[in-house]
Amino acid sequence: MSSSHESDEPSFVRSQKGSQMLSYKSYTYYKIRESLTTCFWRCSLYKSHKCPGKVSTDKSTRSGLIVKITTDHNDHFSHLLKIEARKIRNKIKDDAVNLGANGRPVLVKQIVDSALEGVDEIVAGVLPTHDALTRQAKRAAKRAAKTSN
Ligand SMILES: [Zn+2]
Repeated sequence: MSSSHESDEPSFVRSQKGSQMLSYKSYTYYKIRESLTTCFWRCSLYKSHKCPGKVSTDKSTRSGLIVKITTDHNDHFSHLLKIEARKIRNKIKDDAVNLGANGRPVLVKQIVDSALEGVDEIVAGVLPTHDALTRQAKRAAKRAAKTSN
């Protein structure tokens, strides 16, 4: 139990590019600005996942950082799940369009099968059913077949 408590302590870390980051409660932050007394930090998933999470730290304390959460994070986990699910759906759609354009829409079921192969159960939980994905892929393939003729 003590190790999980330790990770709750704020600390400074270096990003791969060498800039200073703040690590706190399993989140990491980039510094966005600072005043004489305070540093303002933004969640490192701001750009990639539009997370609005922000904290500020007090520069005046020698004993340690005081972290104040000014804006809560979005739900990183469900956000990542949705992104993962969208990738799979996009892949199925792209493959279906290719098949349709190449006049082989009968293979649609196979691309859905292979796209779903090895997908984590949690990700599968936010995806439409296999049947629904197949129907969507078939529609996409048909549309592509029409436009390519
Ligand atoms: Zn965040």
